[in-house]
Amino acid sequence: MTEIPADHPRHDSLVTRHRIEDGVERGITSKQGLIAQGRGEAYDYLLGEETIPSADEAERVAAAHLLLADHPVLSVNGNVAALVPGEIVELAEATGADLEVNLFNRTEARMEAIAAYLREHGAEDVKGLKADARIPGLEHERAKVDADGIYDADVVLVPLEDGDRAEALATMGKTELVIDLNPLSRSAQSAAVPIVDNVVRAVPNITRHARELAGASTEELEEIVDSFAREAALDAAEAAIRDGDLQ
Ligand code: ATP
Repeated sequence: MTEIPADHPRHDSLVTRHRIEDGVERGITSKQGLIAQGRGEAYDYLLGEETIPSADEAERVAAAHLLLADHPVLSVNGNVAALVPGEIVELAEATGADLEVNLFNRTEARMEAIAAYLREHGAEDVKGLKADARIPGLEHERAKVDADGIYDADVVLVPLEDGDRAEALATMGKTELVIDLNPLSRSAQSAAVPIVDNVVRAVPNITRHARELAGASTEELEEIVDSFAREAALDAAEAAIRDGDLQ
């Protein structure tokens, strides 16, 4: 990986870009993943490349949902695996969630490569390879999930999910926590908890909140979940992007 000077003004963004490139070279990230990254970068630039207060609140709410869930599952695609492999494993550990590989452009080679990469980063059980259940309303390849994974989950974290599948999962009655830098995307719009933040910042921050909330009672967690206003979070993010004061 090319060395990027720590004082470079676009240091974090360049590191992220290199991780995605590396993901493509390892056979983890698809070429479409590069385009998705570019789209995300544009929004992140307008957000000031920071976690805005409404996103931090949504991340705390997401942590509370994961802790309250009967069966939480974290969905991992090629961009998430390339950007936050160790961090997503830590989040699974902190919340007792399962990890499931879930790809828009599913190939067995990429599924295997991602599962192996997660295991290298400490994951013990990685779901998604059995593909023995289907999400209703989607065509064959994109509908595949594990019966004892996403299909059975009550709460699913879907970072960078494709809009159609996010809508289909919401229709199945799952509580969807979506990380997406575009507050207008269909994924963010169909989420119970839209988190408008870069996955690179969001995942470790959800883990931090989950650790802080580990001793909280069910009532306290439910209060956090119930006090969340999804429309207000989406509006705050859109306002930050449209009116942000670019430095
Ligand atoms: P829609 O949800 O409106 O159907 P889409 O699924 O077609 O949109 P894609 O172009 O596939 O959207 O884009 C991927 C989405 O992921 C974009 O909305 C982009 O902002 C978001 N994204 C890309 N990189 C990141 C990242 N690092 N962190 C968070 N979100 C990201």
